Amino acid sequence: SRKWRVKPTVLDLGDGVTIGGNSLAICAGPCSIESEAQMEKVMDHLVANGVRLMRGGVFKPRSSPYAFRGLGLEGLRDFHRMARARGLKIVTEVMQVSQVEEMHDFVDVFQVGARNTQNFNLLDALGGVDKPVLLKRGISGSIEELLSSAEYVFSGGNEKLILCERGIRTFETASRNTLDLNAVPILKAKSHLPVIVDPSHGIGIREYVPTMALAGVMAGADGIVYETHETPETAASDGAQTLDFDESARLIRNLRRVYQLR
Ligand code: PEP
Ligand code: MN
Repeated sequence: SRKWRVKPTVLDLGDGVTIGGNSLAICAGPCSIESEAQMEKVMDHLVANGVRLMRGGVFKPRSSPYAFRGLGLEGLRDFHRMARARGLKIVTEVMQVSQVEEMHDFVDVFQVGARNTQNFNLLDALGGVDKPVLLKRGISGSIEELLSSAEYVFSGGNEKLILCERGIRTFETASRNTLDLNAVPILKAKSHLPVIVDPSHGIGIREYVPTMALAGVMAGADGIVYETHETPETAASDGAQTLDFDESARLIRNLRRVYQLR
């Protein structure tokens, strides 16, 4: 809570990469890690555009058990090796308690997905690690519930937290989720933690992702996390909300310009 700590939290991931404070964190990458060839293309794109944080899931929560569920630990080891060689930091989802230890040495930021925001055992386990946790808002979770979940990790001893607005389920069917940009100024006022916006899952429609990303920055977000892939049409998951590299490069430029206007 801001009542307890007024100063904004700045997370230092090392090698000059920070989240929070007086800079805009940009994190991009595919929904799923698919192959070394795919990672190489995404990494080249990120490095060329000065982005230091790469997202990508190796354990994927899928609505259907028959959908691609990720490359698992082996994929994460490759992800880590390739990212390290290029000075990139890794953000990737942890789905269960047993994975925390297995993944620990290969991640820079543990992502807790919207389906696990209230997995209290997982939050307890992450309270005991020394790495930042990117905590997504639950699919039908209130702002207060997100903050309570953050409190689980925090009270367990891990104060390295990032709050993420990624859209909530509402009556609206025109978009995948309803990106609740109201949450950004409210979370910033209530909490000292960095707040980031995920417009990809927030709206779910590729052509509108850049607009909502820029709106997130103007709403006061400390960072944006979005999905990009060389050929979104062939992505193993979430292709419909994934930017190609041209769209991504344009968005990166515009994010930096809009951030200067704040
Ligand atoms: C993801 O980041 O690819 C993801 C599954 O996100 P969420 O948990 O917000 O649905
Ligand atoms: Mn996704």
